[in-house]
Amino acid sequence: MGEQVRNALHKAGLHVRVYCPVGEMLQGMSYLVRRLLENTANESFLLQAFSQKLPREDLLRNPAEKLKKMAEEPQKTVEQSGIGPYRIEPVFDWSRAEHRARFADALKRVRDNFPIHVPLQVGGKKIQTASRFASLNPDRADETVGIISAAGVKEAESAIAAAKSAFPLWRDTSAGKRAQYLFKAAAFARLKRYDLAALQVFEAGKSWSESDADVCEAIDYLEYYGREMLRYSRHITMGHVLGETSHLLYEPRGVAVVIAPWNFPMAISAGMSSAAMVTGNTVVYKPASQSPVTGYMLNGIFEEAGLPAGVFNFVPGPGGTMGDALTGHPDVAMVAFTGSRDVGLHILAKAHEIQEGSSVIKNVIAEMGGKNAIIVDSDADLDEAVIYVLQSAFGYQGQKCSACSRLIVIEGIYDRFVERLKAAAQSVNIGPVELPQNFMGAVIEPAARDKVLRYIEIGKEAGFPLFERKIQLENGYFVPLSIFTDVDPESRLAREEIFGPVLAVIKVKDFDEALCVANGTQYALTGGVVSRSPANIRKARESFRTGNLYINRGCTGAVVGRHPFGGFKMSGLGYKAGGPDYLQHFMIARNIVENTVRRGFAPLEETRTE
Ligand code: NAP
Repeated sequence: MGEQVRNALHKAGLHVRVYCPVGEMLQGMSYLVRRLLENTANESFLLQAFSQKLPREDLLRNPAEKLKKMAEEPQKTVEQSGIGPYRIEPVFDWSRAEHRARFADALKRVRDNFPIHVPLQVGGKKIQTASRFASLNPDRADETVGIISAAGVKEAESAIAAAKSAFPLWRDTSAGKRAQYLFKAAAFARLKRYDLAALQVFEAGKSWSESDADVCEAIDYLEYYGREMLRYSRHITMGHVLGETSHLLYEPRGVAVVIAPWNFPMAISAGMSSAAMVTGNTVVYKPASQSPVTGYMLNGIFEEAGLPAGVFNFVPGPGGTMGDALTGHPDVAMVAFTGSRDVGLHILAKAHEIQEGSSVIKNVIAEMGGKNAIIVDSDADLDEAVIYVLQSAFGYQGQKCSACSRLIVIEGIYDRFVERLKAAAQSVNIGPVELPQNFMGAVIEPAARDKVLRYIEIGKEAGFPLFERKIQLENGYFVPLSIFTDVDPESRLAREEIFGPVLAVIKVKDFDEALCVANGTQYALTGGVVSRSPANIRKARESFRTGNLYINRGCTGAVVGRHPFGGFKMSGLGYKAGGPDYLQHFMIARNIVENTVRRGFAPLEETRTE
């Protein structure tokens, strides 16, 4: 291969290394096929030079320049306002000893402060309540991470009152100033990155890299929504009729209740809260009862950013007893919820009950569960597919809304693929995630453990073959990594969200049947396809109906600003966190029309045209 290039390099006096596989025919052939695939890939220099015939200047351009240009283009409007372009916060590179050492120090430092005492914060004041609850380490249930003051109905109501009285001033604060608070909060979170992530290892049972990714995502939301708000703040000019101006502008709704889950305790909470605040709403934030200390850290970040009192109120407490007081309150204009389907549907019903004296129909953002499938096609690169599936199904113990819980494999490669998957699953380390070598830790709480074990029994009773990796650790809520094969797509195992490391593998005869099975649940959150067939990839694009479809990669790990995230059907209302229309759901649009014919000079306003 590349003989001319090789000769030319040699003639130019450069060293040329030619290497080739040595050994058995079969391995040699697969090696050559891999090289061929790489060389004909869309990004390959060879394809671009010989087939696409790109000009030499383009081919030789420094890729770093190209990347810079791509990052800058969509940000022009932001740059005009003096703020740099949005850039994703890079996760730690654990191959660097410095990160490993600093993270180990952070784990120790954070643990030395346990238990952390967590008050409420209402109207800028810290409040202790008589009723308390504990936040425990799922890997070591005898370790108390925090002791939390619990809000009840009374505290929920006073937080709404505080948010209501802070609203008019906050609404009238300029969008640019509101965005600055988010940028300050992001800067502070960046400074505390190690400690914030270390806390999640203990409180949420996330591995080092999963914890770090969650904090990075929180920073991304703050940076992204801040910039998005600057874009929204320019009134849109509608129509072009002489003698008339017509402006569309966006305004906040009022008091926003933010109810978050525990599985992305910093990122999702920061995302929903910052979207609500930057658009001019005031917030009453209730973290999940399994991750209130992380919620309190978010409160600290906003405090550090200097938000005015009452703009962000922090009320940890049991959703089952004080939740309705928040979501049903007549002074609340909207609810931003992320969590399970059942709680989401309950909140939708509660929020839409019209109360005596209420003058607003609440807007509810509800991001809910999933039963996500990855399809492995008959021509898929199985080495890649194994990694994608393993990461997507068992990363963070399968406790991601985007996790793969159904694996749909075409029959021609079924046995081969399942064998490889089991072998790979056999090799992952399971144990307390404070040890960096462990890929999978315990699930979040005893109820989650019992639910997973119940579904394993359901699978066994249905007679599906089971591969499992058990772990005997008395102290934490550990469950086996479980792979059920030959699962009936109509069974409960294949239709209900389990939210743990349980994978249902389904055999299908062809790609059409695979799509049919993939679409056959009441959820539509994420999905994945591993295939080399352009025709099947096209089919998947057209008819694999999920909120986020990932082709030739895993189905988790959406990135803010790059992969707007959210589902439909019973997974949500079709809104997209981290995307360009998300902030709109936190606002109402008003249109203002003025006849300017007889007015003379009309000052120009800062506007944008769409
Ligand atoms: P959850 O049990 O539904 O709880 C979510 C939040 O709702 C918690 O803060 C909870 O408080 C609160 N809550 C419970 N009952 C309430 C009520 N009656 N009124 C108001 N709030 C109430 O969910 P989870 O176990 O935390 O999270 C896992 C679920 O979230 C999974 O189904 C997962 O798929 C989904 N999820 C979806 C997305 C997405 O973007 N689509 C992202 C992450 C997670 P307490 O903790 O005090 O009960």
